[in-house]
Amino acid sequence: MFDQFSIFDVISIVGLDAARIRSNSGYYDCPICGGKKKLNVNVSKGHGGVCRCAKCAAGGDKLDLFLLFHNPKLVPTRSSSQNGAFYFRPSEEDRKWGMKELERILNLSRKDPAYMNKVRQVRQTAVSAANAASKISSPEQRNAVYTAFLRLLKLSAPHRASLHERGLTDRDIDRIMFRSTPLFGRTQLAQKLVAQGLDLENVPGFFKLSQVDESTGEVKENWSIYCPDPGYFVPIRNKDGLIVSMQIRLNKPTTAKDKYRFFTSGRESLKSGISAVSEIHVEMGKEPLKYVYVTEGPIKGYVARALYQKLYGKDDLCVLCVVGTSNFGGVRPLLQWLMETNPVEQIVEFYDLDKFTNPYVGRDRDNLEREIKESILEMRQKLKKEYATGKPLPKFFSHSKGKYLGKGVDDHLLVIYKQHHSGRLPNEEESL
Ligand SMILES: [Zn+2]
Repeated sequence: MFDQFSIFDVISIVGLDAARIRSNSGYYDCPICGGKKKLNVNVSKGHGGVCRCAKCAAGGDKLDLFLLFHNPKLVPTRSSSQNGAFYFRPSEEDRKWGMKELERILNLSRKDPAYMNKVRQVRQTAVSAANAASKISSPEQRNAVYTAFLRLLKLSAPHRASLHERGLTDRDIDRIMFRSTPLFGRTQLAQKLVAQGLDLENVPGFFKLSQVDESTGEVKENWSIYCPDPGYFVPIRNKDGLIVSMQIRLNKPTTAKDKYRFFTSGRESLKSGISAVSEIHVEMGKEPLKYVYVTEGPIKGYVARALYQKLYGKDDLCVLCVVGTSNFGGVRPLLQWLMETNPVEQIVEFYDLDKFTNPYVGRDRDNLEREIKESILEMRQKLKKEYATGKPLPKFFSHSKGKYLGKGVDDHLLVIYKQHHSGRLPNEEESL
């Protein structure tokens, strides 16, 4: 029976909107914890699709997805995936009931052409979204477009002032290329990029605008830029230093947790737009790297490295910045690469202080710790010879609650910096 229904059947039966699916998966409100857009439904992973809530970790396969909408009893289960995280899955008893219930529903609904049509549409929408997502432009193309785009923009005085407050100097700010989002003239800006010979096709944030020529009535398509909410751009760089994605720090956060948006144009209403993909920002010192911090959010990485340099007169720190505490999946290959190519001595889990109070963040933190420890162990095997002949052995480190001087790694280092500089910020110190 399990292979006789698809995740598209379940999506149709429980009434999820298939148009939300991007690159094989969509985010929905979680029926278990109520988390807004926290339940990820992936139609291609696992055996015919999987689901998982980023907030409460409820999830499972396509049958479990059906059950999540029927108030199941949830049992902790270890994931079979590489990181082996725990999640909460409907009990075996509920699964037996669910299978029978689905069979009953499908026996009835599959006689209904409208139902069959709906399932077909859901599948079609998901497949075309998956095809579109696979077309994202290369890191090199994205870097060329984003760099040229940022060069056309300015950083407003209030944005600059707020970055000073966080501990950055003008030199840091200019190097990183923070820029305010353009409030108008976005189509003209895109035209300037095209005139520079840049290809905006499949670069997240750009889309095609249809404009009617008033004299001829002819419809023209021009590239434009999607960033309706004012704020400033935060470049996200990969390990090669290429800007592969951007966040927008919003001026008016909708909630405390919602201060950032991806610069993306993957919306149904935007022609030729494409979704941003989640990337880890790699903020890397120029000296051989001894310390690696793993934290949340690119700005924290930029600030942490800049302060660390000023405090200790060294540039041997690398900060890996995940976007969202549960998105540490890409950390492992980066850590392994760093351990292989650098004399890494310490890998520090540096998530924000709320990991001690928010159980969901706490759980992500625990999983991250396991990821880090496992990658260290793996490398101990792989680099046995190097370690035996003097390469320093990397150790895992995590701060206890009492050791945090601020909310996150950036505030923590800023407190130390101010202690050493009579309460002045780096920016004030530089202009003395
Ligand atoms: Zn949930």
